[in-house]
Amino acid sequence: MSELAKFLSSEAALAQAEAKVAQTKQTKEKLKQRRNDGQLLYSSWQGSSDWQQWRMQQLERQNWKCTYCGKRMGFGERTYLANGDFSLEPHHPTVDHILPKSLFPELTLDLKNLTMICWSCNRKKGNKMAIASRMRHSKLTQQMNS
Ligand SMILES: [Zn+2]
Repeated sequence: MSELAKFLSSEAALAQAEAKVAQTKQTKEKLKQRRNDGQLLYSSWQGSSDWQQWRMQQLERQNWKCTYCGKRMGFGERTYLANGDFSLEPHHPTVDHILPKSLFPELTLDLKNLTMICWSCNRKKGNKMAIASRMRHSKLTQQMNS
């Protein structure tokens, strides 16, 4: 290979690498943005009287049974933890996004995408989703860097 060809190919390789880095950054940003969008949308509704009303109606519709485990739900005590977080009793009803709002922010307030599940199932699902999302993200990054 001539010196010029070498130089050109290394420049091209560099440009390609830079493009990949930029692409990865963009993907990360987009993923972050989508997560924020969903969270922001939901916070605007959460706690409102409309939200309260939907929650109670939905619990009645479901006969107070958790969509996932089928156990009977009931409001329980909230325990605050030292780090400012809180935990709920296992049977406490919580709003669940069937398709997670982090991945489908456009379905955040779509009532067809909402259901009531117990705190215990919500936590299990949350952990699984976090792992799935991390895996998806590392796979995407891998693909871009290969
Ligand atoms: Zn459950």
